[in-house]
Amino acid sequence: MKEEIKAYNSVLELIGNTPLIKLNKVSADLKGNFYAKVEAFNPGHSTKDRIALYIIEEAEKRGILKPGDTIIETTSGNTGFSLAMVSIIKGYDCILAVSSKSSKDKIDMLRSMGAKVYVCPAHVSADDERSYYNVAKRLHEETKGSVYINQYFNDLNVDAHYRSTGPEIWEQTKGKITHLVACSGTGGTISGTARFLKEMNPNIKILGVDAFGSVLKKYHETREFDNDEIYPYRIEGIGKNLIPTATDFDIIDKFIKVSDEDSAHTAREIVKKEGLFVGYTSGAAFQAVKQYAEDGEFDADSNVVIIFPDHGSRYMSKVFSDEWMSEQGFFDSVNQEEALKIEI
Ligand code: PMP
Repeated sequence: MKEEIKAYNSVLELIGNTPLIKLNKVSADLKGNFYAKVEAFNPGHSTKDRIALYIIEEAEKRGILKPGDTIIETTSGNTGFSLAMVSIIKGYDCILAVSSKSSKDKIDMLRSMGAKVYVCPAHVSADDERSYYNVAKRLHEETKGSVYINQYFNDLNVDAHYRSTGPEIWEQTKGKITHLVACSGTGGTISGTARFLKEMNPNIKILGVDAFGSVLKKYHETREFDNDEIYPYRIEGIGKNLIPTATDFDIIDKFIKVSDEDSAHTAREIVKKEGLFVGYTSGAAFQAVKQYAEDGEFDADSNVVIIFPDHGSRYMSKVFSDEWMSEQGFFDSVNQEEALKIEI
């Protein structure tokens, strides 16, 4: 009998089916069982691989994209990286309009992945023709055979998680999940995953994570857009200064806000205690778990699944740099003692 060579056809076949990993030490003082859905196991090291592949393949099915066409998006973050990766394999050009605030490392990383990067001035309003929104829109209008991913306002972002992240969690927990905790940026992850899980069991609680400086929590509670909620913060990827249509506010039971400082310390704690090198928003997500636990949200029978969106390697010059932590004043308070205690 001929032995088959075991190999994947491309890196794209490794997207999704990420592991659920029990958190033993960081949750030692909490009631319940806590499991992380570790999205860094995607080949592009984040949950955004799922939406990049899904949205592009939907566009292909609908006949909007053919080889040689162009993918356009406005992000220097995880979505940009995932789109560039999928574009390489499928033979598309990838254009990313990014803000001049983006670090050189990020821009270099995207260019290394073959993307054409337009750096647009950060300090102009969204309706200025030089803003990255308008540059992306203009490039989309001018480029025949292009798709503008527009993840904040694209239902396919939600759909990607409804079809993959949700069913995976249901299967992995054998339907025993009681709570989902997820960060909200575009809202695609929490909304799509929750939609599937609530269809399977409407009693599952959906707990959102928002940042101080963002409008999402207040909008969820009042359905009003409150400008006073908006101020600068450091966590990248969660919270927003606008209301994305990709967020299904009705399906989310509660939001909680987490601080830059607590989230940073919790990210470092996860790495040191669980050996899981995850990013800043994974720290935010577990920080939210601690706060929800304090509010009495969980009991001994709770099976809580927390989405850890990306890998720690993207934050070497931030959360995982002692200098950066010091510059932010994150080592100034009593936390210093806590931080050092973790230096096992
Ligand atoms: N964490 C990180 C690091 C992200 O890049 C994002 C996406 N903006 C999120 C969390 C939130 O995911 P979503 O956009 O699906 O709400």
